[in-house]
Amino acid sequence: MGFWDNEHCEYCKGLIVEKIVDLPRKVGQKYILIKNVPAGICKGCGTRYYTANVLKNIEMIIKGRRKAERKIPMVVYSL
Ligand SMILES: [Zn+2]
Repeated sequence: MGFWDNEHCEYCKGLIVEKIVDLPRKVGQKYILIKNVPAGICKGCGTRYYTANVLKNIEMIIKGRRKAERKIPMVVYSL
């Protein structure tokens, strides 16, 4: 039983399935990439959902309480 079993999207009522994703986040002027994030993804519209616990972990990473695994250069474009 996964966390998202029998959960449905609040926008399109589609089925939500759990997937491990990479999550890019903008922190101040920098972008960070958080890998291996468990997310619930709507099969209908692709909206991502995160559990409270996952959000808490993301928050901790963003606040710099965890050391980065590695740093990679990121290319940024503006329109
Ligand atoms: Zn949806």
